[in-house]
Amino acid sequence: MEWLFLLLPVAAISGWVSARSHYKKRFSAQKNYFDPDYFTGLNYLLNEQPDKAIDVFIRLLEVNSDTVETHLALANLFRRRGETERAIRIHQNLIARPTLKPSQRDQALIELGLDYMSAGVLDRAEHLFLELLNTPSPPTDAYKHLLGLYQQQKNWQKAIDMAKKIQSTDPQKIGAEIAQFYCELAEQELEIDPSRALPLLKQANQFDAKCVRAALLGATVHIQSDHYAKALKSLAKIEQQDPNYLPEALPLLKTCYQALNKLPSFQTWLKGILARHPLMVSAHLMLAQVIEVESGTEKAQAYLQSQLQRQPSLEGLHHLLSMGDLNPQVLLPLVNDMTESLLQHGRRYVCQHCGFSGKTIHWHCPGCQHWGTIRLTELHFSSFDPISEH
Ligand SMILES: [Zn+2]
Repeated sequence: MEWLFLLLPVAAISGWVSARSHYKKRFSAQKNYFDPDYFTGLNYLLNEQPDKAIDVFIRLLEVNSDTVETHLALANLFRRRGETERAIRIHQNLIARPTLKPSQRDQALIELGLDYMSAGVLDRAEHLFLELLNTPSPPTDAYKHLLGLYQQQKNWQKAIDMAKKIQSTDPQKIGAEIAQFYCELAEQELEIDPSRALPLLKQANQFDAKCVRAALLGATVHIQSDHYAKALKSLAKIEQQDPNYLPEALPLLKTCYQALNKLPSFQTWLKGILARHPLMVSAHLMLAQVIEVESGTEKAQAYLQSQLQRQPSLEGLHHLLSMGDLNPQVLLPLVNDMTESLLQHGRRYVCQHCGFSGKTIHWHCPGCQHWGTIRLTELHFSSFDPISEH
């Protein structure tokens, strides 16, 4: 009798195999078959009747689950156009289908969460993503979107917890983000209880040793409690971390050295920085300020003049002018250099239609192909936009 039991799994497997081949045949037959409803739906869409088009697409899903990708694409299109209600309808209908594969269901749920996010119903999105995390194999995107959501809510503690759960392929990047979240928390504490900010900044530094923001904030906390030597120690890290941020540290450094009555040491430090980063305008200007305090205005002017002749800068010229009486024979060539280079950078021909910009006039815009839309933008300082904003 025992051999009869042995046959049972065989029967189950053969049943599975025949069902599979049947499904395959049906699938390949459908591949060459286009439902006329499909074109009706497309036609509604083309005639800008998207609600009718959605109805047709949703009806199609009942008979053909192979169009799931098409539905997802259509819903994404709606969401991107800001029509989140339509996107939600499509995704909710997809999720209600019992024939959906688990991976497709997960994707539709994630997309629905994104719909909620762009509709601004963040609590619903959070709830949905958190439910996905409780499934046996949570989709990795759910972690990522929750992290985005907590950042949007400025809920930094939750963002930290979520980021720590993400098994990133780029641990350095996620570490740098976690450090920023700790800095956000520290900045909040700075206004309430500065002593609680320091442990948070220590955490930031542990997740990202190159976190300049933590070094700057740490110095601010120490300065607030008159611990200038500690503040200097914190600021000293920045050159190693990223010298591009040194200009942010200079005013804090000046405060510390002044409070400690050690401006000559600051001068030495600045000269060291300039030996390694000779083009750092803000360090030259700070050095000029220190020279003025230590050795008088004339010495400071002489330093700035020689510096400006080597490297013209608007900040430098402005600073020099603010120092008072200057010999026109020295000043005029400097002003001339400066206005010339400003004009070279600022005079642009810009298309009023698409924003294309170039150094010479084009009557036919290479960007948008319109005729006669490009004009010279002249520099008007009353409405001067910083170039970096563009
Ligand atoms: Zn154009």
